Amino acid sequence: MKLISILGATGSIGQSTLSVIERHRSDIGVFAVSAHTDWKSLSEICNRYSPTYAVMVDEVAGKQLEKIVNHKTSVLIGNDALDFIASHEKVDMVMAAIVGSAGIHSSLAAIKANKRLMLANKESLVLAGELFEKELINSSSELIPVDSEHSAIFQCLLGGKKGLSKVQLTASGGPFLNRPIKDLHTISPEEACAHPNWDMGKKISVDSATMMNKGLEVIEAHYLFKLDAQAIDVVIHPQSIVHSLVYFKDGSVISQLGVPDMRTAIAFAISYPERIDSGVQELNLADASPLEFYEPDYGKFRCLKLSFDALRSGGSAMGTLNAANEVAVSSFLSGQIKFLDIPEIIEETLSGIQNTNLDDLDAVIENDLRSRKFAEEVIKRGFK
Ligand code: NAD
Ligand code: MG
Repeated sequence: MKLISILGATGSIGQSTLSVIERHRSDIGVFAVSAHTDWKSLSEICNRYSPTYAVMVDEVAGKQLEKIVNHKTSVLIGNDALDFIASHEKVDMVMAAIVGSAGIHSSLAAIKANKRLMLANKESLVLAGELFEKELINSSSELIPVDSEHSAIFQCLLGGKKGLSKVQLTASGGPFLNRPIKDLHTISPEEACAHPNWDMGKKISVDSATMMNKGLEVIEAHYLFKLDAQAIDVVIHPQSIVHSLVYFKDGSVISQLGVPDMRTAIAFAISYPERIDSGVQELNLADASPLEFYEPDYGKFRCLKLSFDALRSGGSAMGTLNAANEVAVSSFLSGQIKFLDIPEIIEETLSGIQNTNLDDLDAVIENDLRSRKFAEEVIKRGFK
């Protein structure tokens, strides 16, 4: 039996991971689970899967969980416990499904402990891609992407990268694809979170609406597949059936398709190089037609353009972009700023924070904190 630790078990990816595991209980055991504050959901997960450990990052929530959790599960509290369950000797695989930069430390801990790291937390690579590359050289860890586009590219490249000319990430375009920019001033958080194809956490839903999600994925692809910015392309595909494409010199284009359901990519990451049932409905292409493809509008979706710029700048620019975006999205969700302010704040932060080389995790975290503080000040000033 393979044992798994699920970091961010109460979230959208965490729950989809449990739903895949549910179909394979005799082959896959849940060793540990974690959550930030949602002790009620974590306690339900503990009752169902009896993991050895349940980690609550928040102390108050951890105390609540301790009171009600079943006797088979030990509760651990705090950030260090995430590293503990990500690197525990009994664990075979780690699902990194924490949202935002909070997921970086435990992802690195899993690599250092030679685990299979199933990476949903794209922010890890955006912030510290070079550090991950360095750690992977000295580790026997396998890094398997869970983001659907990157899982698609990974699958398309199983035959190797010879003759590759570019990869193309598909993007749904989010809920505002066909709305003119003048109508985007008054968007509410609820509208921004209502994604047409995918049911996801709030932060990534807003990122999809601004297309920052695709921008972060471009950077993620750069590190995962070792490609320059000019070998990474984005195409709008509103149906989210074609999950990404790989172009070769001889004119061949290879793609992976499926209905939009993260359980496919999760099942692949768990079972690679085998395949297991994920519970996902089979694709019926005739029902899915027409499949449409369009050029992205970089003027309307400025976050996508800013991401390409940050990738080309290199150094700390990508971490700064991510930090400013996390601050801006959370301010948008709490009603402090408007939807179209998000790229403004990111752009101002990128021009206000000096680009440096990030040699270690301390430098990454320092740049992250500095950029967050700057973005918060930009918001306080009213930035107009
Ligand atoms: P979510 O908001 O639904 O869940 C986030 C999880 O992280 C929760 O379990 C929460 O308790 C935990 N968490 C939040 N803040 C934390 C903190 N400070 N410390 C520790 N744990 C914390 O998010 P999600 O949609 O499941 O996304 C998770 C990650 O996967 C993100 O990086 C996202 O970009 C990526 N991803 C998600 C999808 C999707 O379909 N949801 C697709 C591709 C990639
Ligand atoms: Mg994706």
